[in-house]
Amino acid sequence: MTLLRHLWADATEPRPLRPHQDLALQELRRALVEGCSRVVLQLPTGAGKTRIAAEIIKGAQAKGNRLCFTVPSISLIDQTVAAFEGEGIFDLGVIQANHPRTHYGMPVQVASVQTLSRRTLPKTDIVVVDECHMRFKVVTDWMTASPDVLFIGLSATPWAKGMANHWQKLITPVRMHELINAGILSPFRVFAPSHPDLAGVRIVAGDYDEGQLAAVMGDNQLVADVVETWLRQSERRPTLVFAVNRAHARQLQRQLFRADVAMGYCDANTDRVERQLLFAEMACGNLAGIVNVGTLTTGVDADIRCIVMARPTKSEMLFVQSIGRGLRPAEGKADCLILDHADNHSRLGFVTDIHYANLQGKKDKPLRTRKERGEPMPKECLACGVLKPPNAAVCPACGFKAERQSEVRVAEGELVERRPGKGKATFEDKQAFWSMALFVDGQRGKNGKMAKALYRGKFKEWPRDLAWEPKEPTPEFLSYEYSRRIAYHKRRENAA
Ligand SMILES: [Zn+2]
Repeated sequence: MTLLRHLWADATEPRPLRPHQDLALQELRRALVEGCSRVVLQLPTGAGKTRIAAEIIKGAQAKGNRLCFTVPSISLIDQTVAAFEGEGIFDLGVIQANHPRTHYGMPVQVASVQTLSRRTLPKTDIVVVDECHMRFKVVTDWMTASPDVLFIGLSATPWAKGMANHWQKLITPVRMHELINAGILSPFRVFAPSHPDLAGVRIVAGDYDEGQLAAVMGDNQLVADVVETWLRQSERRPTLVFAVNRAHARQLQRQLFRADVAMGYCDANTDRVERQLLFAEMACGNLAGIVNVGTLTTGVDADIRCIVMARPTKSEMLFVQSIGRGLRPAEGKADCLILDHADNHSRLGFVTDIHYANLQGKKDKPLRTRKERGEPMPKECLACGVLKPPNAAVCPACGFKAERQSEVRVAEGELVERRPGKGKATFEDKQAFWSMALFVDGQRGKNGKMAKALYRGKFKEWPRDLAWEPKEPTPEFLSYEYSRRIAYHKRRENAA
């Protein structure tokens, strides 16, 4: 009995919140106090979404509010219920045909969006929408019909078009690179062994046409590249391969098999039991990995240490969700190896650099890729081939220092010195400058005017796609700002 009670207590003992989880809840509370009733909380994969959702549920319970938690598919119901029970929430009902946990009297309900779309919606005060970037019609209809109900959306990638038409506010309490630095996510190394020619591939609804893409990626040489690179570089790590379509996935699986590499296969028709079997086979080493067709982007908890991207995409959502599968930390895992055969990194940059401060409306211009925005892109290290950040003088993987082609170049008859690290400003540089400008602006009560002028003076453009997040300025920034003020007063004196 003592032992049993001990086990019971352990299972429900609440773990302390991590700082970013605490921050997420604080920011959520602040948004609600400010009167927002449709709030999206962006949490990178691995940030502990279940834990945060559990806190939201407990908060609702404490205040006597009814809450409905929606999941994107029926297959996710049971694992969601189990996860909440693991957080000590047992008083919940499930809305799904004949489910043993059906209990309409429970103040907390877990429901799949499919089931909800066939039923009268439950009476509730709060709806938490998991994977809200999928923009379920039943949910948006519900939002329109129930102005008094509070909706909280959860997503790792809330960048779908039209989100701003239903949701008021986006909260981004923590970034992926911060979780990597804190050891909560695994670091990664990227190699880009192939460069498929996608010039002739049509763009449909913002991404590459699947059929044409499969024709390009199914090229024998490209498939052989995938196999050879994996044999050479993977160190036989448990691997997820992302393929374009079923035929392409089967082709990759076959060619790997010919090289004595057994990988499983998974698509939308592979049921939950089969999937679990595949992961178990991989965990015990019977399978080297799993080739999948975009189906393993969510809800995978397996220990994956290598990601093979054989599916080119322009979608930052698909890109981030795919790579997110390999970033769970595990014992003995130093990093995740990413073999990008799809040129996704030279189109979208590193996943850690993708960030938006605002939700996209239906009529907003389509989000441009990092490359289309003219941002500096990752470059291959000449020594080890790893993709390194733009402007990195020294390779973070092997320490190789690339010789600069010329320290001095002639521009407009003038000698211009090129100092290392003074390349084109990255999005992060611009955001950092903008945040500090906002801070100084705020202190002087200039309502953003001064920040905009400072920014334009520095980058010769107006701030665009940047977050309104004031940050304390560095001494360098302050002395820059001071020099601008001096210059301004001098100009005025001269003019007078
Ligand atoms: Zn290197």
